[in-house]
Amino acid sequence: MIASEEQQNWLRLAEKARRGETLEREEALAVLESQDDELLAVLDAAFRVRLHGHGREVRLHVLRNAKSGTCLENCAFCSQSVGVDSGIQRYKLQTVEQLVEGAREAHDRQAFRYCMATASRGPSDGELEVICKAVEEIRHDVPIEICTSLGLLTEEQAARLAHAGVHRFNHNLETSRDYFPKICSTHTYDDRVATIRAAKKAGMDVCCGGIIGMGETLRDRVELAFALKDLDVDSIPVNFFDPRPGTPLAHVPRPSPVECLKALAMFRLVNPKTEIRMAGGREVNLRHLQPLALYAANSMFTEGYLTTAGQGYERDRAMIEEAGFVVVEWSAAGG
Ligand code: SF4
Repeated sequence: MIASEEQQNWLRLAEKARRGETLEREEALAVLESQDDELLAVLDAAFRVRLHGHGREVRLHVLRNAKSGTCLENCAFCSQSVGVDSGIQRYKLQTVEQLVEGAREAHDRQAFRYCMATASRGPSDGELEVICKAVEEIRHDVPIEICTSLGLLTEEQAARLAHAGVHRFNHNLETSRDYFPKICSTHTYDDRVATIRAAKKAGMDVCCGGIIGMGETLRDRVELAFALKDLDVDSIPVNFFDPRPGTPLAHVPRPSPVECLKALAMFRLVNPKTEIRMAGGREVNLRHLQPLALYAANSMFTEGYLTTAGQGYERDRAMIEEAGFVVVEWSAAGG
């Protein structure tokens, strides 16, 4: 069958990405602006790039909300800011034993990576000690990669985490530089970039992504994808906006499933070799189209998110296997 002119255009972008050439911003924008009728052709292009760099592998991540709802920052999408009446559980940092037990549970769920996250501007000295102790025990006892997400870091704090054995640090840019002041005023985009650089300097891998659908333009999404490329991050979690009650963005409507898929395809084509994760808001935004996201993304969270539930490990695993993809654990990947 001869490919249509539109199909050939998407295949041309796929070939360009596979060759390691950087897409033009206008080409990335065209992915987001494509007609819905072209969705499968766009996903096919993303899939070719995914297959080239990551095969049919899927890496599962389990998130642990290690300290919930106590953050003094004011990110407009976040239910964990103390000023927000969101009805979530609020608690201080969990104990070393609880954090290590969480890693064991994650390993039981075939998780490649276990991420301990705290809701705060950054860790106190005491919190850093607890996290580092937990990391050392997990490194000793559980065959799993360790990620932490602790807010803003100094270079000294980053070095302490790396020394304890943290493989990867998560800190999201959330959106474009231009749109960031609309969602947060208590810290800056450059504060976030400085933390990403500190984590890299300390020798940790960096996980850094954002949220699709907070009122930003399509061009903002492109700018985020290119900012992450410029920072050379190792992993991009693409979250889909899930309005939380009580937050300043509670009234913003969700992005459509097709919009979410086009965004994932764009992130894949702009960042061909990077781990791309379909992250928070997956189930409620992609809905029946969830399995299609696997054609662009090569990782996902299982067992829910920081303050919201997911569809559960068994359904996640069935979805992956029925779509012909394969869950890979850390030990099998040489960890
Ligand atoms: S810094 Fe993190 S935990 Fe705090 S309000 Fe912003 S997103 Fe939420």
